[in-house]
Amino acid sequence: MRFLTLALATTAMVAASMAGPAAAQDKGTVGIAMPTKSSARWISDGNSMVEQFEAAGYATDLQYAEDDIPNQLAQIENMITKGVDVLVIAAIDGTTLSNALANADAAGIEVIAYDRLIRDSAHVDYYATFDNFQVGVQQANTLVEGLEQRFPDEDVWNVELFGGSPDDNNAYFFYDGAMSVLQPLIDEGKVVIPSGQMGMDTVGTLRWDGSVAQARMDNLLSANYTDKQVHGVLSPYDGLSIGIISSLKGVGYGSEDLPMPIVSGQDAEVPSVKAILRGDQYSTIFKDTRELARVTVGMVNAVLGGGEPEINDTETYDNGVKVVPSYLLEPVPVTAENWEKVLIGSGYYTEDQIK
Ligand code: BGC
Repeated sequence: MRFLTLALATTAMVAASMAGPAAAQDKGTVGIAMPTKSSARWISDGNSMVEQFEAAGYATDLQYAEDDIPNQLAQIENMITKGVDVLVIAAIDGTTLSNALANADAAGIEVIAYDRLIRDSAHVDYYATFDNFQVGVQQANTLVEGLEQRFPDEDVWNVELFGGSPDDNNAYFFYDGAMSVLQPLIDEGKVVIPSGQMGMDTVGTLRWDGSVAQARMDNLLSANYTDKQVHGVLSPYDGLSIGIISSLKGVGYGSEDLPMPIVSGQDAEVPSVKAILRGDQYSTIFKDTRELARVTVGMVNAVLGGGEPEINDTETYDNGVKVVPSYLLEPVPVTAENWEKVLIGSGYYTEDQIK
């Protein structure tokens, strides 16, 4: 009898919990296309969105494409066929989605570009992102701050530059932001680029691949640094910084005689925060993916339910066809000085994840 009562109670609970979310998720389905699980930030983005969309009454279909363009296209086409109400897309290649988005438009599906701008399409309603130019400015500012601290007596700082993936619109904003700080120092001779390699077409790193960055750093070191020391490396993403740091360690940097150069980064990924605490990496940029999810949910509420979403930029992001109304969040530079306040204080990580 007790067993039966328990079983009935359990059935009732299951029924209640099934009725709960079903009733709560009647606002529609959001198709979420993320680029890859190989970087923790995109996993956080996906998780935050699912959590927040479901809390707001939407069903979600979250897909990762492992940085494979045809795979992401197929996932998006599939979401369109299944009849999602809105698409939220962080594109792998921001220029390859025009046909898919034309299909979405024909099916009456709204599109939000998430973090990365989708180019060459009129069918992008809104863009939720961080101030990408400012990310680059902060990367270069922390690089210079680190150079001043670690190499105060050098007349000239030898620096090498890395860019992000040339098919990611953000990569140009990061690079341009960084160069707005570094170019004046290059012009006055304080910063020298011994390899002479500059410009996104030369320093870009396809698919943000850390092993590509590591191989390029190996080449830069063997071709340009047999008789001198590198003092700084502009790296636009933690995953590249890890490759760059391995390359540097491979030829003896990180010792008393040959201190680690100042290496920047982005995304405050756990291994890189640990590298900052060890002194291998100098800085990273924290972008609170929970906030980006919040802004995106607001945009979806607006496109599906009417009303105005939060927008704070209507000028910067021209995708080649239109200027996409955007909301830019503020990135936060992180070093060994402030990591605890920024990353633990905000509840983004717990102390034991880092230590
Ligand atoms: C994102 C960065 C990220 C990079 C590599 C960019 O589009 O804005 O946060 O580091 O992609 O995943």
